[in-house]
Amino acid sequence: MQSSPKLLKTLLKCSRPLQNNLLARNWSTAVGSTHLPLDILSEDEITMKETVARFAKEQIAPKVREMEANGTIDNDLLKQLFINGLMGVEIPTDYNGSGCNFMTTIQVIEEISKVDPAVAVLVDIQNTLVNAILMKLGTEEQKAKYLPKLATEMCSSFALSETSSGSDAFSLKTTAKKDGDHFILNGSKMWISNSDHAGLFLVMANANPEAGYKGITTFIVERDTPGFSVAKPEKKLGICASGTCMLNFDSVKIHESQILGQFGHGYKYAAGFLNEGRVGIAAQMVGLAQGCFDATVPYTLERKQFGREIYQFQGVQHQIAQIATQIEAARLLTYNAARLVEQKKDFVKQAAMAKYFAAEVAQNVTIKCIDWMGGVGFTKDFPQEKFYRDVKVGSIYEGTYNMQLNTIAKYIHKFYSNFSK
Ligand SMILES: Cc1cc2nc3c(=O)[nH]c(=O)nc-3n(C[C@H](O)[C@H](O)[C@H](O)COP(=O)(O)OP(=O)(O)OC[C@H]3O[C@@H](n4cnc5c(N)ncnc54)[C@H](O)[C@@H]3O)c2cc1C
Repeated sequence: MQSSPKLLKTLLKCSRPLQNNLLARNWSTAVGSTHLPLDILSEDEITMKETVARFAKEQIAPKVREMEANGTIDNDLLKQLFINGLMGVEIPTDYNGSGCNFMTTIQVIEEISKVDPAVAVLVDIQNTLVNAILMKLGTEEQKAKYLPKLATEMCSSFALSETSSGSDAFSLKTTAKKDGDHFILNGSKMWISNSDHAGLFLVMANANPEAGYKGITTFIVERDTPGFSVAKPEKKLGICASGTCMLNFDSVKIHESQILGQFGHGYKYAAGFLNEGRVGIAAQMVGLAQGCFDATVPYTLERKQFGREIYQFQGVQHQIAQIATQIEAARLLTYNAARLVEQKKDFVKQAAMAKYFAAEVAQNVTIKCIDWMGGVGFTKDFPQEKFYRDVKVGSIYEGTYNMQLNTIAKYIHKFYSNFSK
């Protein structure tokens, strides 16, 4: 049965207060306690998870290889993502969004990643970065102008990295020079996801270089602004359908009303919202790992060697049990970070742990799955080789392994410094 776009959109109309009530009610009736297992989802979240899983199977799966070969997301699929409300999961219904909670976004990313992590990153960046930033920082005019478009038709990008500033993001060189009530942007951005399709770009540029990183300001840039151009997509190891391009700014004139949030606070916003984004990437990695595992274990039950299913060899069985445990642990870290985000608690350490661990686990999963498949796992007839290539980016973007470990180590240092006093 085809997923009905209308049905999915209706299911997605879960306004935040309703969602919160349902969450509380369903959870306490489910377990008779307020201390709840992390993977107990509300009815709305479960419905969404199942509906998106069906959507991914029916609408994304048949296009995965073709999109990878073409190096872009299929336009019809893009339309379906919008029609089904998956590009504006948390945007309030008043702005034509789906009005759901952060955990629902996490479920959407996880389910799509089981089928295609390249489509998932498009959905992830739109929801966890651009929509989130606009919802929290946008003026009423900015929200009224952009949120309905982001929910229904317009892809977007988050542009921070440059050729000479990656991990050291705040050493960025793109400038924004004041000119009356405008700013003139010059410079370039590197590795910008979704930029092949995006109509709107959140761009970090330094509007006061004398103040160092405290001059970094966030600008909303529309695609058709004169002087702004998007280069050809990079040729990559994995997530090939996700367009990753360089952006060039050649005296791009932006009105001051297009500043998002406060002048000079761009570094705070980038750092803050990337923490939230990392929970999304952790979900992408959990979904990827689960999708690869699900595609592999049935093979071990069918494939026979030495007269037995290979699953019956204890050496294989134990590895499968270890991997299943790792995926579960990565998922729980991710869900815990997501619930902390929803409850507005400090989640920075947990987000770094979730992203670091989920990316590590997912890499391990893809290696093991290819091992269990033997020679066929090494061919393009099966999805494992694509998962193996797609997974690598999880330890690079939105903060490398080392940058996550730096964050975790900072928290540990702080804790034990206070502890020993
Ligand atoms: C497919 C893809 C999509 C992307 N999408 C986006 C996007 O949409 N928007 C955007 O703004 N950016 C995007 N990026 C950029 C991404 O965030 C950066 O690549 C990432 O932050 C790492 O920066 P870098 O590549 O310059 O590596 P570098 O910072 O040069 O790091 C190289 C190595 O040095 C290590 N290292 C650096 N500093 C330290 C340190 N202090 N301590 C320990 N080790 C360190 C790193 O861990 C890494 O192993 C994307 C990248 C890729 C590959």
